[in-house]
Amino acid sequence: MIERVGIYGGTFDPVHVGHLAIAEEARWICRLDRVVLVPVGHQPLKPEPHAATGAQRLRMLELACASNAAFVPSDIELRRPPPSYSIDTLEVLQAQFGSAVVIYFILGADALIDLPRWHRVADLVALVQLAVVARPGYTVDLDGLETHVPGIRERITWINGPQLAIASTDLRRRCAAGQPIRYQVPDPVYAYIEEHGLYRI
Ligand code: ATP
Ligand code: MG
Repeated sequence: MIERVGIYGGTFDPVHVGHLAIAEEARWICRLDRVVLVPVGHQPLKPEPHAATGAQRLRMLELACASNAAFVPSDIELRRPPPSYSIDTLEVLQAQFGSAVVIYFILGADALIDLPRWHRVADLVALVQLAVVARPGYTVDLDGLETHVPGIRERITWINGPQLAIASTDLRRRCAAGQPIRYQVPDPVYAYIEEHGLYRI
């Protein structure tokens, strides 16, 4: 029976080994039975157009997750009309799994810092546990965060590594500049990006 589920949302444009190492570490630290990776359909706080389509981002996630039985990509946000709010997704998944299942929402420190701006953040923090991954270059002011979102501190489980300074933005830039990205994304994802000529401009 599944009791503990990680939900890991992101643009995943493209998914990289930093994402996968985090998902694996969170799975281990929080003893998760499954990690569901959810590409966002439309990110309210990230208005620039995506370089890859939702279908392409999902396909790359499927390729990346194929070798790990605990990793499951989900198109739940891609199927829903915008805007994509995490709380809506988490409520739907909690209802699907049932109230006996504990959800750990996995996010990076940069996303945690941003959390007070998120839609219905108090409901989000009341519903799920947070598995927060330290990220190079981002320091969290927990006291400040607690004033904006009371109760958040006790919901956090810290995932302290591995800290990989890889970001999709850099990978897109590298592709556009003709620089290599191989080994920063899983091999099948690299092959997909090459085959479809993604991120070249
Ligand atoms: P972009 O540069 O396009 O923002 P990204 O690499 O930050 O891409 P996202 O899809 O935005 O990837 O990230 C999804 C989630 O994973 C976010 O919560 C983010 O904080 C976290 N994350 C991504 N890369 C890392 C990393 N190298 N270390 C820690 N957390 C990360
Ligand atoms: Mg990001």
